Amino acid sequence: MAYSYEAPVSQSLFDRASAVTPGGVNSPVRAFRAVGGTPRFMVSGTGPYLTDADGREYVDLVCSWGPMILGHSHPEVTAAVQEAVSRGTSFGTPGEGEVALAEEIVARIEPVEQVRLVSSGTEATMSAIRLARGFTGRAKVVKFAGCYHGHVDALLAAAGSGVATFGLPDTPGVTGATAGDTVVLPYNDLDAVRAAFAAHPGEIACVITEASPGNMGVVPPADGFNAGLKELCAANGALYISDEVMTGFRTSKAGWYGVDGVRPDLMTFGKVMGGGFPAAAFGGRGDVMAHLAPAGPVYQAGTLSGNPVATAAGLAQVRLLDDAAYTRIDAVSAELRSLVGDALTKEGVAHTVSAASNMFSVFFTDRPVRDYDDAKKQDVFRFTAFFHAMLEQGVYLPPSAFESWFVSTAHDERAVERIAAALPAAARAASEATA
Ligand code: PLP
Repeated sequence: MAYSYEAPVSQSLFDRASAVTPGGVNSPVRAFRAVGGTPRFMVSGTGPYLTDADGREYVDLVCSWGPMILGHSHPEVTAAVQEAVSRGTSFGTPGEGEVALAEEIVARIEPVEQVRLVSSGTEATMSAIRLARGFTGRAKVVKFAGCYHGHVDALLAAAGSGVATFGLPDTPGVTGATAGDTVVLPYNDLDAVRAAFAAHPGEIACVITEASPGNMGVVPPADGFNAGLKELCAANGALYISDEVMTGFRTSKAGWYGVDGVRPDLMTFGKVMGGGFPAAAFGGRGDVMAHLAPAGPVYQAGTLSGNPVATAAGLAQVRLLDDAAYTRIDAVSAELRSLVGDALTKEGVAHTVSAASNMFSVFFTDRPVRDYDDAKKQDVFRFTAFFHAMLEQGVYLPPSAFESWFVSTAHDERAVERIAAALPAAARAASEATA
């Protein structure tokens, strides 16, 4: 596809990057491979806007894939970071900031009795699974196709399959032995989970699920699905791990737990709780967490875990997320969903706007989307056309049809108006696109 707009400075940076970094990026989706064109190298962000190296401004609907829930460069978060930096950047000792952030998490999210801080969501899910295995003395892990839990070897297995698949590695470098302990099931299918417990009696350590998936596009759990998982885990001596790296501190004050109230044994967090810095966490039942070193035998550690700058940023951000903030984010999300839906309907484009609280995405199909197989059946080429038309008009969407869109408290009327103005041409581009 040819693009009518140019990004020469980004392109030259991308050329430089590609010479020294595989694919030119440090995280694959940033390379725009799914949509084509030149990835934008951003130089600054303020409120709901990003500015790229060519000097073009965009309304940002990615928000760093979730963390920037207050918008970019929020003055109070920035001040907390500057204050923390002025006192030193890492001590390798305990510090008060990490205690305060842990207290904030425990206070907000009732099932979390104890919490351990780490530096990325990947570390959080990897450690939670190790702990579940150590606690139960079992090896197998159940995950769902289309759910992403970071690039943990055991959790990359068969991420693309919509049928129950046992242990086929999706990624070279993940050994059959590692993947062999992973049972991949279709999302929203409790019968498949029942069958897996029947097929592997006494072998399943845990079921891990995105609390409400956002990594195959937004596909919320069907009524009773999470509660059913919890029940099946309890009945079979396995732990129920709710991955709230994306939903935590975003979908409500208490994340997705605050929405559905299903009490997990362990939970994982990241993104929002770091305020744009690398901070993440896992926590849950006190008796399970007590198995973690140095209290217990399951080892887990990190040189930069609980880093004072990251915890200062996270704490400042999370403390600003009061009821009014969520009311604001939910309202902006609802407004955008209806604007996008109306624009696509007007151009006769088959679509489904799918939402879970304020997270949402658009599937270019009018068939219901309940799992990864459904999500893959959309007209991705229409998303590609829609994406580029939005980008050209200064709206930055996730460069993939299988990602959630994110808004922030900083998305004000002016930002929404800019998005609204871009939608008719983007909807037309989607309608005219050909496979
Ligand atoms: N879990 C979920 C639900 C995620 O969405 C992500 C990242 O997008 C991760 C885990 C991994 O987090 P990180 O990218 O910080 O390693």
